[in-house]
Parts: sequence; C-alpha cells; structure tokens
Amino acid sequence: MSDVNLPEGADGAQHLFPCFSRADVAFTHGDGSWLFDTNDARYLDYATGIAVTGLGHSHPDLLDVLFRQGIKLWHVSNGVRIPEQEALALLLCQKTFADRVFFCNSGAEAIEASLKAARRYHFAEGRPERYRIVTFEGAFHGRTLATIAAGGRDKYLAGYGPVAPGFDIVPFGDFRALDAACGPETAAVLIEPIQGESGVRSLAPSDLERIRILCDRRGALLIVDEVQTGIGRTGHLFAYQHSRVVPDLLAAAKGLGNGFPVAACLATERVAASMTPGTHGSTFGGNPLAMAVAQKVVEIVANQAFLDEVRRKGARLLTALSKLVEDYSEVFSEVRGHGMLLGLRCVVPVELAVSAARANGLLCVVAGDNVLRLLPPLTLSDAEIDEGMCLLRKVAKALTRAE
Ligand SMILES: *Cc1c(COP(=O)(O)O)cnc(C)c1O
Repeated sequence: MSDVNLPEGADGAQHLFPCFSRADVAFTHGDGSWLFDTNDARYLDYATGIAVTGLGHSHPDLLDVLFRQGIKLWHVSNGVRIPEQEALALLLCQKTFADRVFFCNSGAEAIEASLKAARRYHFAEGRPERYRIVTFEGAFHGRTLATIAAGGRDKYLAGYGPVAPGFDIVPFGDFRALDAACGPETAAVLIEPIQGESGVRSLAPSDLERIRILCDRRGALLIVDEVQTGIGRTGHLFAYQHSRVVPDLLAAAKGLGNGFPVAACLATERVAASMTPGTHGSTFGGNPLAMAVAQKVVEIVANQAFLDEVRRKGARLLTALSKLVEDYSEVFSEVRGHGMLLGLRCVVPVELAVSAARANGLLCVVAGDNVLRLLPPLTLSDAEIDEGMCLLRKVAKALTRAE
C-alpha cells in the first residue's frame, strides 16, 4: 500500500480539479523500466510519464546528485549568479547550435520564452510589425493561453475566451500553404520535428531543411519544439540533429530533468541578445536543485555511445512492431516514429488498446489519430524490449478475440 498520509476513508480525489481522466491505478515506487502499484503488481513502463523519465526510475546517478545538491542548496533567485545554471547552459551550448539558454519549469513555458524571444528579436531589429507565428495543424505546444492558440485545436481552446492573436496555422508538411502564410509580419515558424500528441507524425529531415530555407528567404526565425523529441528520445540529443538544419530557437522540457520539473529555451546569440535585463523572467527557473539534476541527465544522454544505443534499440523496437502489425492487422494498422518515440496506429479504439495493455502489465500512452504511443525509457534493456513486445502480442491476441 501507499504510505501517503490520508485519513482512513477520506476521498482526496474529489478535491482535485476534474480536468484529467485518470486510470484507477496508483504507483508507489519505480525501479529502472518498472513501476509498482499499490497492490504490488509490476508494470513495464513504456509511458515514462509521457516521455519524461527517459533514464528510468530511481537512476542511481540521479539519486546521488539530487541528494548531494539537496543537502547543499535548493533555491536562490535569478538576482544572483547561479553556477549550476552557468554549467548546464555551457553544456547545452556545447552540444547544440545554441549560444545562450533561458531556464524555466515546463514545456509550455519554454515555448512561451521562444515566442517572446522571436518577437523581441524583430522588435530590437526595428521591425515590431513582425510578430506573427506560423504553426502547423495537429501541433501541440502546451496549455497556456498563448500555446493553445499556437496549437489551434478547438478542443483545447473552447471556453477560454478570445484566442490569443498572431498565430497562422497551416497543414503539417504543406509547403505551399507554409510559403503563403510566411509574410512581412511573420516573426517565426514553430514546428515539432515529430508531432507527438497528435499521433507520432514525423517530418522528414529534408522537409525540415526546406522549412529552414523558406524561413531564411522570408526573414522568419525557425523555432523547433523539442519538448517531446529532445533529450535523446529519437537517438540524437535533439531531433533537429538528424538534419542539417540550424534552428534559431529550441524548446526543451519533458526528459530534461527525468521527472524533476525543468525546461529550457535555447537560442543563438543573435536572437538572445534582444532579451536584455527585465524583458523576461522566472522565479523558479534554473534553481540549483533543478540545474544539478538536469546537468546529470544531459551528461548521461549527450554521450555518443548512449545515443548509438538508443538508435540501435529503437530500430529493434521498430522491426518488432512492424512484425506485430503484420501478424495482427485486425488490431494494428501502421507503425510510426523514430528511436524511442514510436506509435502504433490502431484499428480498434486506442483507449481500449491502452487499457488492455495496462491490464497486462504494460504502460503506454494514447495519442491522436487513434495511435498508441510507446515512449520507453532510453535505458531499456534488450530483454525489456522482448518482454514489451511479448506483452503487446498478448494484448493484440486478447483484442482479436474481443472483436
Ligand atoms: C508536452 C509538450 C508540451 C507542453 O509541455 P508542458 O510541460 O506540459 O507544458 C509542448 N510541446 C510538446 C511538443 C509537448 O509534447
């Protein structure tokens, strides 16, 4: 049982905002690729808290760094120098296109920082009329008022008043529409290299390159939303690194703290130079505790041998999943994705497949387009790949019979 301090018979759930639809399961602890529930049942974690715990649960190096920093210093304000922040910024800049980093606490905040930096850059260049942002249908950029406007999805916008202006939304991968949407008022194009939430829809590296060229031609910046694709998920530290593209801004979050809430906006010197003292800020952003944990995460992931392993295991998963689709075409119709960001398009309702998986001890995530999303820990062993595939076969068999 959970050792959470709740009075006998009390129902705390009724005191939470009802904005999540939750499965009736609760976990008490985790170990590597496994989670254990209040009945001591174990689950293979191919959900990783939605692409967050990429290094698995209770990683010894992360426990160690959390402890060490925890007894030294948790928080000071950004009114003083924070050496842990400077160290992580340096590391991220060494491993990417970026020259400067702004730290915050969530993916949506990292996107907001990117949007503000893009607008501020043009403002500082004497072009305040360039404030519009071009985004793509099916995109997910977060749940703040600006990021739901960027995503443009009715179901996330309904009931929240006037939609924040300044966003132009074009079909994913439609270059003609993109070209037409980029005008003299465009500040930036914002894109996910792989759309995660809307069904693991990938953009080819050559398509990202075309978008970069188009941005340059139109004087627009390129922002990549790597909140889900970043921190090794696709087999590079960031997914843009599969291509020759150099973005102007990048948002990172989910995997960055392996569950410690932390996010970052990465930028070139040219763009970041406009973010002068007072133009943006955050109370919690970049505090020593978050920085210590995130630095360790990036040190582990941004290692060539580690990333090679992610690519190798991702390919192994992809092969096994393709075989699964062949064998159970009445349940699954298509495999999608790269590295360890994979999707199985379902023939049966995806919610049914995800709960059947959970009932069999495998955790995965619902995505749009009736896609079951697989986001295993990057540290997954080959045996845990085989075990996961075995569980998925059981699920497919059960769902075949259920029809
Ligand atoms: C999860 C996600 C976000 C939002 O991150 P939060 O931490 O929930 O604010 C933004 N963009 C993408 C691509 C995401 O997957």
